[in-house]
Amino acid sequence: MTVTATQIASINPATDEVLRTFEPYTPAQVEEALAAAEDAFGAWRARSFAERAVPMKRVAALLRERSDRYARLMSLEMGKPITEAKAEIEKCALGCEYFAENAARFLSPETIPTNAQKSYVEYVPLGIILAVMPWNFPFWQVFRFAAPALMAGNAAVVKHASNVPQCALAIEEVFRDASFPEGLVRTLLLAGAQVEPVIADRRVRAVTLTGSSATGARIAAAAGQALKKAVLELGGSDPFIVLRDADLAAAAATGVRARHQNAGQSCIAAKRFLIADAVRDDFERLFVQGVEALRIGDPLDAATQIGPLARHDLRENLERQISGSIRMGARLLTGGKRWGDRGAFYTPTVLADVTPDMPVFSEETFGPVAALVGVRDADQAIDLANRTEYGLGANLWTRDIATAETLARRIESGQVFINGMVASDPRLPFGGVKHSGFGRELSSFGIREFVNIQTVWIGPAQGTQPTPKAE
Ligand code: NAP
Repeated sequence: MTVTATQIASINPATDEVLRTFEPYTPAQVEEALAAAEDAFGAWRARSFAERAVPMKRVAALLRERSDRYARLMSLEMGKPITEAKAEIEKCALGCEYFAENAARFLSPETIPTNAQKSYVEYVPLGIILAVMPWNFPFWQVFRFAAPALMAGNAAVVKHASNVPQCALAIEEVFRDASFPEGLVRTLLLAGAQVEPVIADRRVRAVTLTGSSATGARIAAAAGQALKKAVLELGGSDPFIVLRDADLAAAAATGVRARHQNAGQSCIAAKRFLIADAVRDDFERLFVQGVEALRIGDPLDAATQIGPLARHDLRENLERQISGSIRMGARLLTGGKRWGDRGAFYTPTVLADVTPDMPVFSEETFGPVAALVGVRDADQAIDLANRTEYGLGANLWTRDIATAETLARRIESGQVFINGMVASDPRLPFGGVKHSGFGRELSSFGIREFVNIQTVWIGPAQGTQPTPKAE
């Protein structure tokens, strides 16, 4: 099957086989989707939380029923190992249930005593929210936006990444089959360059992007031009700090997982390992052992831990970052080459003696390469951790929890995980600072991003205005 320049194509990155092609939506199809979403929003916003929770819980049940099919789709379209893909579907189901059960509590009106007879804030839905989504967690990224946004009473149009169109359509299908109102959740098959007019459309009230910082800047500019709210979840270059008193075996084993989930293609993957000089040799040895034990291969095989990268251009960019860093003096401990005779596979790679000027430190690395850096002490670790344009997550390993909590406040990132691995959790807010974006997803914080926090002030029944107290 051949792919034309304008088509949206589903290509298996493990075999290079073209699975399906799609024509991007015409302006008339986009118009139809926005009109349908606006129509559906009218009735949806009037439903109670309990009424909205019914189809949301049905989505969770359908996801579980169809887990094998949807997980396989992810593996085929972007190469995610099937075991991780199934876990991702389960996480989506849990996320739907979490917001079905907790949205009413998060968004119940709050009374604020003033000199009024009664004053309170309530959380009113905004309308249609546009979500521009990436391919790396093709289901979870969409559900972690959609579950809270829909429970808050909004409608959603999703422009998914162009390499996962079948996942995009499957997500639309699951909402439809769960009896969400027709049109409330729609997929737009569009190229990135076709998104700006949708942001500008009067019916779209806000936009969220999960994607690269470069795209974030474009979407923020378009949203700013149209005076619309934007929530941006962008790139990351998370530090993984190991202090001299850390449990080294646990840190190394967790570090291997934290770097290699989804073949390293995660915004919150640990990317820069800042290791106390006193334990550096031991950490390197344990870490390399763990990396060399990872099983690379067919993503549909349940034993596979590392699949291909999602596209060939992503592998080429990773190769540029690795070879550039080696040329600048990084020491190759393992990996550093392609794997197999087809597909976009790359062997897990560890580089030591990395310095901040090397591409594997100064740029986001979206693939299986770990950058190891020796540090004198905690102060130097914090200094290097912050020496990046990103600020998404950070991992910190030490047995001294009191010191860790003090150090955490000095790390410029949206989340710090101490003796653990950064992960998203529906109960906790998720997001970044600096070029990793702004706004939060998940938890009671995330669900309030796409609502009108409306103040209601009620004076005395006869209509005389109480005099505000002078402060
Ligand atoms: P990307 O190239 O920025 O693409 C993300 C989405 O934006 C895709 O749907 C893409 O569509 C669209 N897009 C591209 N150019 C656009 C434009 N000019 N206007 C509007 N939309 C546009 O990112 P990616 O390579 O798919 O994803 C990897 C990046 O996402 C990494 O940097 C990663 O760290 C970040 N990420 C962040 C988080 C987080 O929570 N902070 C989570 C996951 C991933 P096309 O596919 O059609 O180009």
